[in-house]
Amino acid sequence: MSDYMIRGTAANEFIRAFAVCSKGVAEEARKRHNLSPVAAAALGRTMSAALMMGADMKNDSDVLTIQFVCDGPIGGITVTADSGGHVKGFAENPGVMLPPNAYGKLDVGGAVGNGILHVMRDIGLKEPYAGEVNIQSGEIAQDLTYYFAVSEQIPSVVALGVLMDRETAKVREAGGYIIQLMPGCPDDIAAELEKACVSAPPVTTMLAEGGTPESILTDLLGGMGFRVREQMPVAFKCDCSRERVTKALVAMGPGQLKELIAEGKPVTLNCHFCNTDYTFDTDMLKAILERASKKK
Ligand SMILES: [Zn+2]
Repeated sequence: MSDYMIRGTAANEFIRAFAVCSKGVAEEARKRHNLSPVAAAALGRTMSAALMMGADMKNDSDVLTIQFVCDGPIGGITVTADSGGHVKGFAENPGVMLPPNAYGKLDVGGAVGNGILHVMRDIGLKEPYAGEVNIQSGEIAQDLTYYFAVSEQIPSVVALGVLMDRETAKVREAGGYIIQLMPGCPDDIAAELEKACVSAPPVTTMLAEGGTPESILTDLLGGMGFRVREQMPVAFKCDCSRERVTKALVAMGPGQLKELIAEGKPVTLNCHFCNTDYTFDTDMLKAILERASKKK
């Protein structure tokens, strides 16, 4: 199953819902960053959420960023998504290893620890819309549920999961859903949703049993008139390029470039989001210096 996401509504639009299967996205991130199992789970969960939250923005140029600034051994997580199903991200310490938690699961909460969860939406206004809350458990989904409740006053159910293959250490399943109650939602609908979500199996179980975004949301909301409104492919995608990195070097200015050239060694710049290296030898740096000098 290729990665994709759906959004839909239920209960006469008092409920809106998103679901994503993102195994390819999570596995691509694991490969690019050489993520440990617990880091792959933490980043995969965050990327699934960012894809769904990003799809809630209107314009192609809108950017959503989720950042965990935390004191746990993972050191921090940064993920950005656009409104069209593209996501990229990284963990500060991709190799973090921890023993399983008390339930025998990957200890994402232990890897994240305490700190602040930031959510930013750059939707072309002068200032990006930004909210932040204290990290609750570090398990990602609980933290985002808390963020929606406190910072955006939207009662939400967030479920995110990444299942790692113990033998191959690759991603076996990844995905999640976000269900939100709109203002004025009657109490009986809220109660019915709560009942459905409490009895639902973990999202990785649903995916491992062949569940799709449609079947997952139908299981949860089918009794409330769930309808799919939109379907969209999703992918890990970084917008870095040699030309972009070159522009960043040009922007350093002739002074710093001359210093780099004087060192006589190639310079390598790394894109944190996709872990691509861009190397510039001395001749390339001289050409960039020429570009930078012309700018003045
Ligand atoms: Zn990149």
